This record gives sequence, structure tokens and C-alpha cells, in this order.
Amino acid sequence: MAQTTASKQPATFPQGSPLIRVEHLTRTIATRAQQTIILDDVTFTIPAQQLFAVNGPSGSGKSTLLNMLTGIDRPTSGRVVFAGQELRARGENALARWRGQHVGIIFQFFQLVPTLTARENVLLALELGGGGGLPRSAWRKRAQDCLEVVGVGAFGNRLPSELSGGQQQRVAVARALANDPPVLIADEPTGNLDSHTAHAVFDMLAALTQRDKTVVYVTHDRELAARADARIELLDGHVVGQRNADAVLTHAAEVQ
Ligand code: ADP
Ligand code: MG
Repeated sequence: MAQTTASKQPATFPQGSPLIRVEHLTRTIATRAQQTIILDDVTFTIPAQQLFAVNGPSGSGKSTLLNMLTGIDRPTSGRVVFAGQELRARGENALARWRGQHVGIIFQFFQLVPTLTARENVLLALELGGGGGLPRSAWRKRAQDCLEVVGVGAFGNRLPSELSGGQQQRVAVARALANDPPVLIADEPTGNLDSHTAHAVFDMLAALTQRDKTVVYVTHDRELAARADARIELLDGHVVGQRNADAVLTHAAEVQ
């Protein structure tokens, strides 16, 4: 990509070094009747510029954890330290600005604007995110570059309805790349795709680590998770397995 993340990713975070540290993170939700523990004392590290999988069955707390990593939700206790800075320390406006510059989010159901072409969807992200430091005159080229990186450069003029599921998810990844964030966070990005397409999209996301991106990939698919550089496995809000994640197992370690 023309624009690199060199200015945003300090030299102190070379590939494989700890980029995001999650420490004793707990999230509870109080209802009138009871206190529900959704995440319980979760501790792990996401290495820079690798593909990191968060694996676990439905209801294990994966999406709740992601919302803490992006600062959309706040921990009940514990903390998230992102490139040496604690997220909680930022105010809401600063956090929203920070998110726009540092994190690209990818959803299971793509969430493309159906009335805009693939290219316009990426351009919209540039508009909303301030253009990733680029002048407006460079946005169109930037959008095309992003579409090409994820393998849909020829489909810029198509509407989402004129694309396959796999192609739509690629456009959604291009949109997440638009403002050149160092981290991509994908919540079940292949959960809506057939197995062959899921593996192809996984490979495309994994390849982005060669372009300085740290990719956090949430999935209930153990086969895909096993292909990640590093991973944790969640069960009922506990970390029950890990690889290369410097995690503390807080429950019976029945999976590795
Ligand atoms: P996953 O993404 O792994 O499927 P979630 O993080 O969405 O899991 O949810 C984990 C658990 O927390 C589930 O049991 C879910 O029902 C519960 N939960 C999530 N958000 C809330 C909420 N706002 N209020 C009550 N329970 C919630
Ligand atoms: Mg979820």
C-alpha cells in the first residue's frame, strides 16, 4: 500500500513483540436479579503484526472482549494497554478519535452500505475517518489500492448485491484498511461464508500481517483458529487455552 503505518507503529513494536496487553480483565453485567460474569480475569498479550485468534463457542465472551479491545465497552475491572497506553485513560471523544486512527473493524455480516458501490463504501470510510492523513485528491487512488490489496480491485463499480459473500467481505476488509490503522479486528468475519471461501478470506487477512497489520480474528471455528500465529480459547468467560499469547489460564485447561 502506498501509505505505510511506519509513523503510527513505533519501532518499539516490531513483529512478534507485545502490542496489546489485556490484564485481569473482568466484565460483569448487573441485572435486577443477579450479577452475571461475562469475562473473568482474562489476561493475555496480542503480538504485533501477527494474526491472533480469539476462539470459543457462541456465548463464551468473544464479542464482549472485542468491545473492550476497541474501547467501545469498558472493563468492570482490569485493563487494556494498547501500544503502552491504557485505553481507559482516554475520554470518550479522544477514544472515538483514537479508534478511527488505530482500529479497523470487520463484521460477520459485512455491513456494507447497499446503495453504494464497493469503491464508494471505502471512500465513505475515508470521509468518516478523515482520510488517513491523505489529501482528498488522493482518496480515490487510496480506495482502489485497498480494494486491490484484498483481491477485489476489478469490482470497484459493483454494488454489494452484485458481489458474492466472500467478495463482500473483502470489500469490508478494504473499508477497514482505508484509514491505514495498525490493527484490524474481525468478529466472526468468515462465520457467514462456506468453508472454502472462509479459508480464502482467512488467508487474505493473514497476509495483511506482511503489510504491518496486527489482525485479531474472532471465530468459533477451531480449525481456522489453529492456523493463527497466536491465540486464546475462551469458555464461559475464562481463558482455557492459548498459544504464543502469554495468557493466564484461569479455568481447567482442557484445550491447548
Ligand atoms: P460470543 O461473542 O462469544 O458469542 P458474547 O460476548 O456476545 O459471546 O456474550 C457472552 C455472554 O454474555 C453471553 O452469555 C451473552 O448472553 C452475555 N451477554 C453479552 N452482552 C450482554 C448484555 N448486555 N446483557 C446481558 N448479557 C450479555
Ligand atoms: Mg460474538
